[in-house]
Amino acid sequence: MLKRCGERDDSNGEECPAKRREFEPTLNGHRIAPSVSGINFRVLPILPAELTTFEVPLVQFYVVHVLQLQTIGQLIKTLPDIPDEFRHLKRIKKGMMLVCPVHCESLFEEAKKKLLGLNLPLEFQIVEVPAKKPLTERQFEFAKEKWPTSFHSMPEIEKVLADQPFDGDESRIILANMSKVPSNGCLIADGERSLAESTHGTMLLEHAALEAIRNLAKYQQSEAYSVEENRFAYLATGCDVFLEQEPCAMCAMGLVHARAKRVFFRNRSSNGVLASGNWHLHLEPAINHHYQVFEVKIDNFDVNANASRHCGGIL
Ligand SMILES: [Zn+2]
Repeated sequence: MLKRCGERDDSNGEECPAKRREFEPTLNGHRIAPSVSGINFRVLPILPAELTTFEVPLVQFYVVHVLQLQTIGQLIKTLPDIPDEFRHLKRIKKGMMLVCPVHCESLFEEAKKKLLGLNLPLEFQIVEVPAKKPLTERQFEFAKEKWPTSFHSMPEIEKVLADQPFDGDESRIILANMSKVPSNGCLIADGERSLAESTHGTMLLEHAALEAIRNLAKYQQSEAYSVEENRFAYLATGCDVFLEQEPCAMCAMGLVHARAKRVFFRNRSSNGVLASGNWHLHLEPAINHHYQVFEVKIDNFDVNANASRHCGGIL
């Protein structure tokens, strides 16, 4: 059964750390691929919690009220630098200026002494300000009510958070590609065009995703691969990957190395690392490429009910 955000994983009793959002089919007027007409499906993005929260954490800061606005220039030269982790914060808000975090008590005492030495009318107060730079527009809306902060919007993320990750045509292509995945297999596609596919091999390490990447490399070395198509910077750059099974760590890292753009899978795997368990490889900050991951649920369309539930097909 599909585990929803906040629910407990029965296998280990721990809460899933990644937030997942569920989308209803967005096929315009139920316009879907003829071969899969009448099928309802949902696409569930697997997102980090830091993107799905509506709020950002807060931290207490000392502020000084500037009672004579013409003294701001003089005061700002006296204030200590804002610590690097709080560089997202603007210094001034409506006659108040940030001094330093409350936990930096000695820094505050030193700054207060210098400020009072200016013999200006000043008042000190403690306020709550955003401890982190907001990552989404809704976090920005929350944060700016607390204190002015910098923010850079990410349109792709905003589309996903707005429950509109795909338009009708893209939904049709995703569903059509998913329906073309071989049994226990993998398909790599550029839009509607299939570039490579594979199923699990007979050898231990011949998992479907790695075999499909291998086949993609062969295709790109073949005469069928035209010069025009050399726009790919590296193997699967810009490509979508469709899998029947959630990838294991080996396959998921292979897709990182291949520079896949998005990964869609149908069934969770006992050795999967994108949706199952408490760690999600594609959300790992240390890796140098990140693809988006979606779990695709297709009602009444279990084309391979007897498929393995283990990436690699070997238990
Ligand atoms: Zn695998």
